[in-house]
Amino acid sequence: MNTFRPTRRTVLHAGAAGALAAALPGCSSTAVSVATPDLMPKGRQRRVVILGGGWGGLTAAHHLRKAAPDLEVVLLERNPVFWSCPLSNKWLVDVVDTQFLVHSYTSAARRFGYTYVQTEVIDIDRAKRRVITAHGGVDYDWLIVSAGIRVTYAPWFGNDRAAITHTVNNYSSAYVPSTEHQALKQKIKSFQGGTIVMTLPPPPHRCPPSPYERACLMAAHFQRSKVKAKIVILDPKPRPAPITAGYRAAFEELYSDVIQYVPNAGIKEVDPFNKVAKTAAGDFRFDDAIFMGHHQAADLVWKLGGIGKTADGKPTNWADVHPELYQLRDDPQIYVIGDSMGAVSPQFGHYPKAGHVANRQGRSVAQYIAQQAKGQAPTPIIIDNLCYMLVSLDPLEAIAVQFDYKKAPEGHLHQTQFDDNDRRRKLWDEDLNWYRLAVQDMVGA
Ligand SMILES: Cc1cc2nc3c(=O)[nH]c(=O)nc-3n(C[C@H](O)[C@H](O)[C@H](O)COP(=O)(O)OP(=O)(O)OC[C@H]3O[C@@H](n4cnc5c(N)ncnc54)[C@H](O)[C@@H]3O)c2cc1C
Repeated sequence: MNTFRPTRRTVLHAGAAGALAAALPGCSSTAVSVATPDLMPKGRQRRVVILGGGWGGLTAAHHLRKAAPDLEVVLLERNPVFWSCPLSNKWLVDVVDTQFLVHSYTSAARRFGYTYVQTEVIDIDRAKRRVITAHGGVDYDWLIVSAGIRVTYAPWFGNDRAAITHTVNNYSSAYVPSTEHQALKQKIKSFQGGTIVMTLPPPPHRCPPSPYERACLMAAHFQRSKVKAKIVILDPKPRPAPITAGYRAAFEELYSDVIQYVPNAGIKEVDPFNKVAKTAAGDFRFDDAIFMGHHQAADLVWKLGGIGKTADGKPTNWADVHPELYQLRDDPQIYVIGDSMGAVSPQFGHYPKAGHVANRQGRSVAQYIAQQAKGQAPTPIIIDNLCYMLVSLDPLEAIAVQFDYKKAPEGHLHQTQFDDNDRRRKLWDEDLNWYRLAVQDMVGA
């Protein structure tokens, strides 16, 4: 067993490093690493450090132990337990319970034989191959970054901290694993009636079909509990996508009394205090709201210096990686996987930002690193994506979308999308099965 047990010395060092980090917010990685003691000294084994224990990171940790048992694997994650975003929309309206979403990191680490440390990752010193955490430094031979997304309201509010704080505290979207989910569930359960506005960010964003699923399930919940609610979906796109016809049918056939879908409604201005959202499709007053800020690669990718650049030198806001190997362009020892990844193909742009994709990429990088550890070049693995969305509670019925990938003759990746618009019970059963298999792959439970 390989699980990390802090010694008195480590704990003392952890305190010192934490204090240092707190005292020097935003300081350079070199400055911190010089002064930061080891969290875990490196032995003779070569080490893979994984940043983020979400869908990509947990999968990579498990599969690395299988594919490269000679390597030491360390998972660094800020949260004390794993909280799944997939299936969380169903949890909001009590289709599944909390145990379904939440799993123990320590049990997974013990089961698969890697080290999990609960800590905030502060910075990465690429020159020294060292990760700086709130509890000390961790040296690596290979680094996998699967840190998800960051949500920013800066495009709406600039540096107006009062507006940002008010929005986060009152209207946050629960799109990252955090306490926001609890607050949103409370909001839905206690809603007494009126208009809820729900915005979608401009693409690309995390799990594109899931905001519409959430609207459908909230609408079903309000119908069931006889709450007079109106949900206004403000979508910057011209139509719901993916699974366009399936969602349109659900909105029209099941929820025409609750859901108002507004296309081409990019946000121009939001006044969270006076409760008005101004969009390209008109102004909307609201009693309550779910505001999805813009999505970007996680903070750690920015700290890594891994963000791509547009032709005119501006940040793309997403990681610049090899389309199939997921290595940073200038460092084949560093992999960025999951939702942080940037565009990979001129045909379709980004992979869908989905747990299924992060899981497949986690499996792939485990193989790539195992090959590199043997002195071999990694052999690219082509992945797939599959996503089920529950749109009805009585009866339980889902729709779905599948994405297949292949290498086009011109050399780039080509995507084929299959929408399954015919809502039915069988797809919900398949969704449950898909989720159970994924959880088994990530935590072994
Ligand atoms: C409502 C909703 C429904 C969804 N439904 C589906 C679905 O049905 N099917 C599907 O395939 N996908 C779904 N998704 C998408 C899925 O959640 C993401 O695509 C997936 O989680 C991405 O995996 P990841 O590893 O990139 O990021 P995450 O799973 O978010 O993991 C990132 C981890 O990094 C940690 N972290 C970040 N920064 C630091 C730091 N500085 N220090 C320490 N730890 C850090 C975070 O705490 C987190 O645990 C859904 C998402 C949402 C929000």
